[in-house]
Amino acid sequence: MRARSPQGPPEELNAVADPTPAPAEEHPPIDPLDLYGVRGALSEEERQVQDAVARLVDAEVLPLIQSAFEAHRFPRELVPQLAQLGLLGSSISGYDCAGLNAVSYGLICQELERGDSGIRSFVSVQSSLCMFPIFAFGSEEQRRTYLPRMARGEVIGCFGLTEPHGGSDPANMKTHARRRGGDWVLNGSKMWITNGSIADLAVVWAMTPEGIRGFLVERGTPGFSAPEIEHKFSLRASVTSALFFDNVVVPDARVLPGVSGLKGPLSCLTQARFGIAWGVIGAAQACLAQMLDYTATRTLFGRPLAQNQTIQLRLADMARRITTAQLLALQLGRLKDAGQMQPAHVSLAKWNNCRMALDVARDARDMLGGAGISAEYVPIRHMLNLESVITYEGTETIHQLTIGRQLTGLNAF
Ligand SMILES: Cc1cc2nc3c(=O)[nH]c(=O)nc-3n(C[C@H](O)[C@H](O)[C@H](O)COP(=O)(O)OP(=O)(O)OC[C@H]3O[C@@H](n4cnc5c(N)ncnc54)[C@H](O)[C@@H]3O)c2cc1C
Repeated sequence: MRARSPQGPPEELNAVADPTPAPAEEHPPIDPLDLYGVRGALSEEERQVQDAVARLVDAEVLPLIQSAFEAHRFPRELVPQLAQLGLLGSSISGYDCAGLNAVSYGLICQELERGDSGIRSFVSVQSSLCMFPIFAFGSEEQRRTYLPRMARGEVIGCFGLTEPHGGSDPANMKTHARRRGGDWVLNGSKMWITNGSIADLAVVWAMTPEGIRGFLVERGTPGFSAPEIEHKFSLRASVTSALFFDNVVVPDARVLPGVSGLKGPLSCLTQARFGIAWGVIGAAQACLAQMLDYTATRTLFGRPLAQNQTIQLRLADMARRITTAQLLALQLGRLKDAGQMQPAHVSLAKWNNCRMALDVARDARDMLGGAGISAEYVPIRHMLNLESVITYEGTETIHQLTIGRQLTGLNAF
């Protein structure tokens, strides 16, 4: 260690304490929404995917999303455009799907959720919760029947796992199916099902004497109904429904043959949670982008709002949180593409990134003052949406307990 000089601290420490700005060094500009240059770590193809989705969101989603949210309406007119760009079932190879890697799927979710969590939810459910189980566990006939039409957006899917008595404990499933000749008879109900009322096909998980099985129930099947849940304050640009099954007859050919037990639905949720961990970054970026504009132009006490230390601290904190979430998501994506991603990895990212985005949106709403309660500014819409996103596909507590179990080997659920 260097000896301290009697005149004061060593020269280099003096330099640190000196408030005089150093002469500007030549650095390339830093993107405030990507401080660590995650984009530079992407492949050319990944960047192209991100850019294509960003253009779609700017041109088609942002102009209509505020009014759709206010009207409690899913903008279904976007579905053909999402399909045309190859965003439905984008990770699946074959069956008219794009066959993109996991990082590309993450970037798709991130850009879509920069628009609105409801649009990303639609794509997540269609891709990860409906097309994925048909691809992974379906018969060849089921794949050929549904996947190409789902990729084209001609068949919309929903995923029924949660039941009214408690979604965090899916093993306690009451919806059940019994064999009757070559058919199954399905009874029970599901709650909080995204896309339910607009779905042509429901992937429904039900208890059978052989354990939990996946059933493909088509719209219009006698005894099956899917009323929409109204009066939501969150995800208003997304359809959320209940599903009811009253002696619904499902032929054996519409049961997913490749899986039984909870690992069926849980493996779908792992795919979808991966997309959420990426998606919410987009919502947080939208909030930070708007706050950088707003605080630069709003003048209070004779100076821009951005020229206050506490405002800068809050902006810096948003950037810190977004940056760490981006790095976490990128590493998660690389693990997934290498076939090394485990459920605990996804739980950590879903928990961290949803909490990050919700905190950013709430703080942005506050920094807007009264304007923060207006739908003219994006934070309150993202904030309200993120209240759902932090709850669905495993609440924050459930993901924390998953990490706890990973660390201790003890199940505290
Ligand atoms: C807008 C929206 C869309 C959705 N879309 C779908 C969908 O498409 N398909 C689908 O199947 N589901 C969907 N869900 C359901 C969602 O996954 C569930 O709401 C979620 O899993 C929580 O279940 P629950 O609502 O029954 O809450 P509960 O399970 O009743 O939990 C209530 C509270 O108890 C806490 N808790 C639970 N267990 C424990 C424990 N052991 N220790 C401590 N605390 C605990 C939870 O964290 C939570 O805070 C959706 C939900 C929403 C809001």
